[in-house]
Amino acid sequence: MSFEWVSYFTCHDCGLQKPSPEVPYDHLGYAICPACGAETRPTTAAATTPSTMVDG
Ligand SMILES: [Zn+2]
Repeated sequence: MSFEWVSYFTCHDCGLQKPSPEVPYDHLGYAICPACGAETRPTTAAATTPSTMVDG
């Protein structure tokens, strides 16, 4: 049983797919796309969220 499950990094910017161990990481631990340089940052709710104004 020498099967290793390799998680894949998928760039949401250019769609590149690479095994996670082959992807560079920044000092914060976020994967950086080696193709376009986009960082995979956690989706924060403080971004542009289409808020429906139903409050009141
Ligand atoms: Zn990319």
